[in-house]
Amino acid sequence: MNSISRRHFLKLAGATTALIAASPTLKAQALPGRVVVVGGGFGGATAAKYLRHWGGGGIAVTLVEMNPNHVSCILSNLVLNNSLSLPKITFNYEALKSKYGVTVVQGQAVGVSGKQLLLGSGSSLPFDRLIVAPGIDFDFQAIGVRDPANVLHAWKAGPQTLQLRDQLRNMTAGNSFVLTIPPAPYRCPPGPYERACLVADYLKKNKPGSKIIVLDANPGIVAEKETFTKAFTQTHLGVVEYHPGVVVTAVNALAKTITYTENGLSRTLTPAANQGKVGILNVLPPQTAGRLAFNLGLVPAGQKWAPVNALTYESAVVPGIHVIGDAQSTPKPNTGSGQPKSGHIANAEAKVCADAILRAFAGEGPDPAPMTNSSCYSPITASTASWLTATFAYDASNNATMVAVPASAGEASAPTSDNYEEMFDWAANLFADTFA
Ligand SMILES: Cc1cc2nc3c(=O)[nH]c(=O)nc-3n(C[C@H](O)[C@H](O)[C@H](O)COP(=O)(O)OP(=O)(O)OC[C@H]3O[C@@H](n4cnc5c(N)ncnc54)[C@H](O)[C@@H]3O)c2cc1C
Repeated sequence: MNSISRRHFLKLAGATTALIAASPTLKAQALPGRVVVVGGGFGGATAAKYLRHWGGGGIAVTLVEMNPNHVSCILSNLVLNNSLSLPKITFNYEALKSKYGVTVVQGQAVGVSGKQLLLGSGSSLPFDRLIVAPGIDFDFQAIGVRDPANVLHAWKAGPQTLQLRDQLRNMTAGNSFVLTIPPAPYRCPPGPYERACLVADYLKKNKPGSKIIVLDANPGIVAEKETFTKAFTQTHLGVVEYHPGVVVTAVNALAKTITYTENGLSRTLTPAANQGKVGILNVLPPQTAGRLAFNLGLVPAGQKWAPVNALTYESAVVPGIHVIGDAQSTPKPNTGSGQPKSGHIANAEAKVCADAILRAFAGEGPDPAPMTNSSCYSPITASTASWLTATFAYDASNNATMVAVPASAGEASAPTSDNYEEMFDWAANLFADTFA
């Protein structure tokens, strides 16, 4: 399992910048062009920053984001057990404006007309190239949710993260925390299992008699299988009840009732003592590309993600529009790419995309062999963490997609307190590379 050492892993974790900075085109040169970027998360903010940083100041870059700040999902599970506060993972766009000269517009992108991005305010922004990085949206219908507005997912960090933390603090001891996991692909493959571990750890210490019931739509643990199996069956023995292969059929979020089938049998959990004693219903609904990708016609009918060319992240459907981050898929529809939907990968994709756009403005073709990498630290308790990493390389012969470089993939051999400390260094690097 542990095919690479921790030291090697930390080197890989910083590899993307080095790989792309070595590209011959990325010398500062005053290229003319207008790029509008929608979405100020890990994908969009990185793209805006690097277009200006590498573009030599000639590229006019406008970042459109509907919120004044970005609250990072990365590390947000640590807010639930009070290890972190939300301000520690909240980022503004001041550095992008003042250090890199990005124009930041707070607003909602709603459509495109020719080479103009339309905003909800009624104004529009002209572009030569448009990058969209709108993240994810939820398919509530697929699991029979009656009241989507009441669903507590905390899978987009912000007010819901605090709501879930408060519900956990206030839950009656002896009650259950029910967590559903959607079918892959979804945002952050190890994330739900990480949440289950942190909640279990918290329940053991603070809510005697409580347990977490995990209803997983997948046939088994999706990422770091060995690590999370051990965590569920040894570290958190008796506190985690794990059910794979579950199909959720009905949810009443306000009433905290959920109906699902498992092995052909239907079961309903409710707050009643004989029906699961549901204290908290934390539903992670099935996921799709962010709504804007559908509005712009980037997602083909019947599909869920926006297919792109893996060399440029240009849409396979609409020329001149690029899609990066969780919303894209390269190039197999609906399966996502070989690349996970992670913030680290979104940051790496943004650099490949920015490089390809700068080359296009300079009249060149894209880098024919881009590489990206992803790393993920997963806290298993309030003081230990595990990690997972992989590097991806473009493979023209394999459906022109990004494939994991075999020797690069690795996982921590065990959750440790050293890993837990290093998690904050890794995150600080990624946050700085994106927002500072
Ligand atoms: C609990 C949890 C833990 C995670 N842990 C990790 C981890 O350890 N490592 C890791 O790499 N990844 C992790 N992730 C995954 C990571 O957060 C996502 O993959 C990442 O945020 C994707 O970046 P993005 O830019 O595609 O989308 P986002 O970061 O979601 O950004 C999208 C932005 O677009 C904006 N937007 C959307 N539509 C519009 C519009 N129409 N107009 C204007 N603005 C718009 C949104 O407001 C948002 O700011 C975790 C996720 C969760 C939920």
